Amino acid sequence: MKIICIGRNYSEHIRELKNETPEEPVIFIKPDSAVLRNNSPFFIPAFTQEVHYEVEVFVKIKKHGKAIPEKFAATYYDEVGLGIDFTARDLQNHSKTKGLPWEKAKGFDHSAVIGKTFPKSEFQLDNQEFSLKKNGVLVQQGNTRDMIYSIDAIIAYVSQFFTLKKGDLIFTGTPSGVGPVQAGDQLEGFLGNHSAFRFDIR
Ligand code: MG
Repeated sequence: MKIICIGRNYSEHIRELKNETPEEPVIFIKPDSAVLRNNSPFFIPAFTQEVHYEVEVFVKIKKHGKAIPEKFAATYYDEVGLGIDFTARDLQNHSKTKGLPWEKAKGFDHSAVIGKTFPKSEFQLDNQEFSLKKNGVLVQQGNTRDMIYSIDAIIAYVSQFFTLKKGDLIFTGTPSGVGPVQAGDQLEGFLGNHSAFRFDIR
């Protein structure tokens, strides 16, 4: 499986990182070795001094598809979940300055935390609250209605370039409030009122 991620999909987050609003979706991919599941602890890697959390809604692709029209995109996923797009911000800033790819900053081992998935029928995906607490304190709060590109628009766009396969995940971008983690922290994510993950940073 692969994890296709969208960057810069919430205006407030674009502002906080002083990025430009994209003219088309910003895409990057995390490999399957990035997956961290089952509330396993996240160990801060030695190569970075600044790992940021980014809480994101994801959908799980349920069938093979290429060049999917937006109007059919919703038939390609039944499950929705919440995860973390861990980012080595120092490495990413270095890559951006040099105009180099983001892979080391975004695709490293265990950089994709995959929380519980839920049937999409239990949620209103175009108007869904989600949030992240660090050590019990609210640090990120978003609503999918604020996405620049909707889930279905993202699927239509990315499937022009990458064939989607059963089990692939689409991460849909983070709202504002991103920040660093350090050993000893605990992160808990909520999709609506449902706790989707809770794990420790080591
Ligand atoms: Mg992200």
